[in-house]
Amino acid sequence: MTTFRVLGGPGTGKSGLLVEAAAQRIAAGLDPESVLLLTGSGRMAATARGALTARLLGETTADLPVVREPMVRSLHGYAFAVLRKAAERAGDPPPRLVTGAEQDGVIRELLDGDIADGARGWPPELRPALSAAGFATELRDLLARCAERGVDPMSLQRLGRSSGRPQWVAAGRFACQYEQVMLLRAAVGTAAPQATLPALGAAELVGAALEAMAVDTGLLAAERARVRLLLVDDAQHLDPQAAELVRVLAAGAEVVMLAGDPNQAVFGFRGADPELLRADADADADQTIRLTRSHRCAPMIARAIAGMAAGLPGPVWPTLDGGPDFDADGAAETDGATGSVTVRVADSAHGEAAMVADALRRAHLVDRLPWSQLAVIVRSASAAAALARSLGVAGVPVQTPNAGGPIGAQPGARALLSVLDAAATGLDGERAGEWAELLLTGPIGRIDPVSLRQLRRALHRRDAELADALTGSTPPLPATLAKPVKRVRAVLSAAVGSHRRHRDPRYTLWQVWERSGLQQRWLRAAERGGVDGALAERNLAAVTALFDIADDYVARTAGASLRGLLDHVAALQLSPAAGAESAGDAVAVLSPHAALDRDWEMVVIAGLQDGLWPNTTPRGGVLGTQRLLDVLDGLGDEVSARAPLLAEERRLLIAAMGRARRRLLITAVDSDAGDAVSVPSPFVAELAAYAAGDNAQPLRPEPAPPVLSTSAVVGRLRAVVCAPEGDVEDPQRVCAAGQLARLAAAGVPGADPSQWQGLAEVSTEEPLWSGDDHIVDLSPSTLQTLSDCPLRWLAERHGGTGPRGLNSTLGSVLHALVADSAKNESQLVAELETLWAALPFDSPWYAANELERHRSMLTAFVAWYSASRQDLTEIGTEVALDGVVDGLTAGVRVRGRIDRLERDAQGRLVVVDLKTAKTPVSKDDAQRHAQLGLYQLAVSAGLLADGDQPGGGRLVYLGKPSAAGATEREQTALGADDIPDWQRAVGAAAAATAGPQFAARVNDGCSHCPLRPSCPAHAPESS
Ligand code: SF4
Repeated sequence: MTTFRVLGGPGTGKSGLLVEAAAQRIAAGLDPESVLLLTGSGRMAATARGALTARLLGETTADLPVVREPMVRSLHGYAFAVLRKAAERAGDPPPRLVTGAEQDGVIRELLDGDIADGARGWPPELRPALSAAGFATELRDLLARCAERGVDPMSLQRLGRSSGRPQWVAAGRFACQYEQVMLLRAAVGTAAPQATLPALGAAELVGAALEAMAVDTGLLAAERARVRLLLVDDAQHLDPQAAELVRVLAAGAEVVMLAGDPNQAVFGFRGADPELLRADADADADQTIRLTRSHRCAPMIARAIAGMAAGLPGPVWPTLDGGPDFDADGAAETDGATGSVTVRVADSAHGEAAMVADALRRAHLVDRLPWSQLAVIVRSASAAAALARSLGVAGVPVQTPNAGGPIGAQPGARALLSVLDAAATGLDGERAGEWAELLLTGPIGRIDPVSLRQLRRALHRRDAELADALTGSTPPLPATLAKPVKRVRAVLSAAVGSHRRHRDPRYTLWQVWERSGLQQRWLRAAERGGVDGALAERNLAAVTALFDIADDYVARTAGASLRGLLDHVAALQLSPAAGAESAGDAVAVLSPHAALDRDWEMVVIAGLQDGLWPNTTPRGGVLGTQRLLDVLDGLGDEVSARAPLLAEERRLLIAAMGRARRRLLITAVDSDAGDAVSVPSPFVAELAAYAAGDNAQPLRPEPAPPVLSTSAVVGRLRAVVCAPEGDVEDPQRVCAAGQLARLAAAGVPGADPSQWQGLAEVSTEEPLWSGDDHIVDLSPSTLQTLSDCPLRWLAERHGGTGPRGLNSTLGSVLHALVADSAKNESQLVAELETLWAALPFDSPWYAANELERHRSMLTAFVAWYSASRQDLTEIGTEVALDGVVDGLTAGVRVRGRIDRLERDAQGRLVVVDLKTAKTPVSKDDAQRHAQLGLYQLAVSAGLLADGDQPGGGRLVYLGKPSAAGATEREQTALGADDIPDWQRAVGAAAAATAGPQFAARVNDGCSHCPLRPSCPAHAPESS
């Protein structure tokens, strides 16, 4: 056997060389069935297969023999084929591949069982985590890594015992249970005694193939006799089991060629190791082929890649002495250009998104690059989703990998599943109202919150509920309310009819889809593009995935039922596997790993932030998966986990840069505005030096550029047309109006004044509620929002809140800790530090800063607590408040939770509200503070069992330490004379919730308001 290694950087033609070697050997008379080219992924296999076929058809004049065995296969595809052959030879049924989502479902079921049994097999510190969504994913990952490394459940338990890691012992026991269940499912199927197919996960395939060849030596001999030329692409991604499979096959081959680039080895977290390339390199340096000319990357990009590779630790592999493997000077020119590497830093996340959008739009519109030749690579999935949304808004068509969570949680699929669920369950149970509301407010009913409220009232007058409107006889309703009800009724009745006739669940699903009319609606939106278009595309993709899942479920389950399908979908907690990438002309927004075997004319690497890239947070979570891989590799506890992670992050960046053919744009944010500080990654300065060469200048944060997009142009033209009298010249206004008219005639959204929000007719002038018997639910914090800005209250009350951020979680952590006043400072700090490790910080330095800040808040609390005991006595913490306040002009039910309730020296009740904000309100504002005022009013109304004498309220700012521990702001005790004033204020606020007009009132909280971008009170500033 002769082994060649082909080593080279991105685009140096390693894959092409393997194809060429195969073609030449076949042309020289080698039987094509004796050739096996193994690739890392199905997509690479398809590309290589196409290239080899074209090469053979193009060069060979003689008739090619018919080939029964594919010459090119992905490694997993080959392993599966071996298993199928082994099953055939043994007369067994063929193996079946289970999806990641299906495996996840089984793991969750088993964990639920463990929890029900008291989770006795798990270490006590892990028991609370067992029900967490991330735990099952982590456990699945650990089992996959074990399967890839050939670690069976018993060995995992032994390793756990010898390393003093009880979590591995427990995971080993769990793995035994999991294996038994999978075998059982193989024997009886998920719901069908007829199903008899062994089920394997992707990670188990290679191990199972090796086992099959070890057991059936005839099979191994046949494979060795068949494969004379073995070619392996991307060998740096091979994990130890895959490398073993290659070795086993190579033993029989005449020629073996291993191609790869250790500088792009980025699957360390999966146990991949470029060892095979290195081991063979040591054995015989003469049979190493070094490719030093990049046929993909332009010289500038190649130079930057070589520079980054030089920063990798060690000689990366022994034969590459003297620096990186990539000969930058020899890199090929692409289209006669030297290419470009640009590094830009924005002064805000919004600015970075605008920078990227503008660069992409210019590349497409000015330089005529097709959208499909542009890509954006982002390190984290959440950043990718946010950036994709911003790009969509700016008019860049984007194609993102599926990142929408479990299929059942994706809005497109959920719309259909909720109808199926209602049909299977019936709309008459306890949750009928909840279902009805879900159906009416979902994509099928599309009723808005105000109309829903009106519908409830209209039904209430007829003694009917929401569910009655969807199932009983059609109630007489005004046309605007009748329409959504009719839509949902039609879809629901189609589903119920099909279900009652016991039709195939796929048929029922199809009925719902067809009757919903969502297909046309979403297709039209997708064609229009923009944010709605992107959303519609995601919905359509989710529905396609749902149909695939239903098809798969029915195909594998005899006696499949609608309820069974719903349970099956509910158990799938992972995103459905992304299908083949869209053939449409769109910009790919993806992770560096997803980008690995692709390339584009222009690549943007965005979000290169400190803490995110490099991300040196230890991998493996509570189960210590990375540690397990280290132990298997013989690394002791003393070895630093950070250095290998740092190197892997650099390799990941090199791999991402190598996807660009002609242009590379790197972007980051440098901003200390607001609470979240963003600092560019250290890689940014390094790359800037390679980009600028000797002319390197310090990078300065740039403001958001005007984006070359239709919506931005329309916005600017509208601003001119609508500018106040005297702000613009008349000819300018006329010109802008003329341009808008041209754009409107061309169908550009937003150009036609009929689409302008301010010019639309008011849809209703009815109040949200009416009648003296109406009770308004008010929490003290809601009253504060209502007093500050009624419009914000309206929006937040009807779902217009942003997602709960890290700051809010930190606030809850602090409140929970100080609620137990029996703990001393060191106990509180110790608990804080334990909790800290579990919080999802983006960067270690930010986590450390915040920890320090929270430690000082605990110190401030302890000092304040001790000082305040001189005049206050604790009654309770987190005290619940719930009751109707009498004597107001409108009925008000107060609901809330008081941080601390204290008693003063005169026996009166003092309400204390703890604040983590850094800026206290003024003393005057504290006297008018609505939240404290309502608490005091509630005390005086006798809503607390501990007394009805208000003794004032205090705002304690832990984030602003003072001599007394924390800065305090006080509201004096409510006297008999003050009560009517507060009653009037609260009554007026409650009455204001009826509307129909809600004023936008500028206040200190505007900078954190989710409505800010579209707030009328800020319109002149934003236009
Ligand atoms: S930005 Fe300010 S004024 Fe506008 S809705 Fe929000 S809180 Fe009210």
